[in-house]
Amino acid sequence: MKVASILGVRPQFVKASVVSRELRKKHEEILIHTGQHYDSQMNKVFFEQLNIPEPDYHLNIGSGNHGYQTGEMLKKIEEVLIKEKPDLVLTYGDTNSTLAGALAASKLHIETAHVESGLRSFDRSMPEEVNRILTDHCSDILFCPTQNAVDNLKREGVTENVHITGDVMVDSLLYNREIAENRSTILSDLGLKSKGYLVATIHRASNTDDEGNLKNIVDAFSELNETIIFPLHPRTEKLLKRYGLYDRLKSSVILTQPLGFLEFIKLMNHAKMMLTDSGGVQKEAYVLKVPCLTLRENTEWIETVEDGWNVLVGTDKEKIVKMVREFQPLLENHRDRFGDGDASKNIVSNLSQAFLNHFKYH
Ligand code: UDP
Repeated sequence: MKVASILGVRPQFVKASVVSRELRKKHEEILIHTGQHYDSQMNKVFFEQLNIPEPDYHLNIGSGNHGYQTGEMLKKIEEVLIKEKPDLVLTYGDTNSTLAGALAASKLHIETAHVESGLRSFDRSMPEEVNRILTDHCSDILFCPTQNAVDNLKREGVTENVHITGDVMVDSLLYNREIAENRSTILSDLGLKSKGYLVATIHRASNTDDEGNLKNIVDAFSELNETIIFPLHPRTEKLLKRYGLYDRLKSSVILTQPLGFLEFIKLMNHAKMMLTDSGGVQKEAYVLKVPCLTLRENTEWIETVEDGWNVLVGTDKEKIVKMVREFQPLLENHRDRFGDGDASKNIVSNLSQAFLNHFKYH
């Protein structure tokens, strides 16, 4: 089987690294990189650390408004698919690259499978939510990380070729955790003691593009008398500077560039708490048993909240400060929620079987 995998952003590199490794044992894969993330620290470092093969096509789309970005991707992915004629297109997550890949494949009547299907925040103002819904509805095979995701699809009438596989990010985390422990020197580089610091990541549009929300977050971090390591996403850095918040943030936390995966998961593994608006980080924190405060009003990883290991604190300064001081999840409420590291195996064996059956979904 010839599979075209569509990648474009940091979390997709993390997810695809494990599926790709499994896929290439039996099948041919071509990688199409849309170029949505292009900074070296958001891109190249992941290919190197996670041993992802060089992309066969680099579309160099870069940043831009959603319509421009998705439209350019759609055009260029279509050209590649017409030329390469893959049997299947594989997409990951919820970005413009995901939607463009699924739509291009679907219009060309190429089978398409979506990894991380069925997640919902129930907040359509999030660009990611629109991408998730549309991608799920034009994909032929849907790989869900959890039963909640399967249930979400069912509510939307999507019940055929839906598979529960576990979560591929967990595969990647479990595969790399020991490697990170041995290889990364991030703790000594930053002069940190295990469990003596917090880690923050912020990049969702609802936080970065809203000056008031970003200011509340900076105010909360300034008020906390804690060591906070804050690897700064390029978009967040740009907006902090635009709103005149950068210098104040810099004086109260330790700012770093975006970290490589091995550095980041080691940092997370030894953190006292995570403060984040990232989807992937909420789940990784849960798996590593690190308490997490999510600086959003909703989450698509509701299991982490149900088990009391993640609290949605939004961007209310008082609430953030209070919860950092008080939050203590209970170990007895921690469960195996996202699979045991076999998601990529499950996905590839399912695809192999579907291919043998000639797909027959269209
Ligand atoms: N991550 C990383 N370095 C960082 C911040 C995050 O390697 O400085 C990893 C993190 O461990 C997770 C992924 O990037 O695997 C999450 O990506 P992001 O937060 O950009 O995307 P989201 O999950 O919110 O879509």
